[in-house]
Amino acid sequence: MKAKKSLGQNFLIDENIINNIVEQINANEDDLIIEIGPGRGAITKKLIDKKSYYIGYELDNELIPILKKFENNKTIIKNQDFLTSDLITDINNVNYNKLFIVGNLPYYITTPIIEHIVNSKIKFEKLVIMVQKEVADRFMASCGTKNYSYMTLYLKYYFDVFKVCDVSKFCFNPVPKVESSVLSFSIRKNRPRVDEKLYFDFLKECFKQKRKTLKNNVGNIRFKMIKKVLISHGILENVRAEEISEELFIKLFNELNKSN
Ligand code: SAM
Repeated sequence: MKAKKSLGQNFLIDENIINNIVEQINANEDDLIIEIGPGRGAITKKLIDKKSYYIGYELDNELIPILKKFENNKTIIKNQDFLTSDLITDINNVNYNKLFIVGNLPYYITTPIIEHIVNSKIKFEKLVIMVQKEVADRFMASCGTKNYSYMTLYLKYYFDVFKVCDVSKFCFNPVPKVESSVLSFSIRKNRPRVDEKLYFDFLKECFKQKRKTLKNNVGNIRFKMIKKVLISHGILENVRAEEISEELFIKLFNELNKSN
């Protein structure tokens, strides 16, 4: 069966990487594992060995006969787009203890997949996903580096993220053009208390044009409102968003809201 480029099908063939991913999923028999895009089952068969509850979402109907072989009384294979899945209903049908989510994803839907999980508001123990290496660098970037972006702060708000390993493109068949990394996300315990929608709108505004200063991105009037907070932190007027920490962004956001 030919791999479908349109569905991001680069199948894992390296046993060490598969084992690395599976080892992250320390699920017991009363836990639930969700797999996004199980494909030909490279990761699936080792996940099923854990004897946990399992739900796999695979969009390609041609792969379903291969995956159906894994089905048992604790395993469900859904021929469904993960992005339109009703996660809450699906997991509520299972009487599980902890939830783990795992996937070697098609890279063009990495962010929509994370957003789908965030928006569903489900609680999970760990989310372990393969992403393009450059994207991993952006997700985990430190303040003051060129990769530090809106998405870095969006993820930092919800999760603690760590890199499990880098993955060579030769670990896949067919070989993709890009290098990859496996990331592990767990839910952050002490999130800042803000109106999430307004906070993320503010961050989007601050990072609107990367080359511009914060002042140019938020406009003169709004910049005036936050200027004194910046000055009190010893920050110059020509600062760019990529130089501002999460802690300071929250202070700037609160200052703006105070004035509204
Ligand atoms: N997990 C397998 C592996 O590691 O070999 C396959 C990985 S492959 C990179 C991505 C898989 O996701 C493919 O099987 C593809 O058909 C499936 N897929 C693509 N878009 C999907 C979606 N929206 N929902 C569920 N599965 C999807």
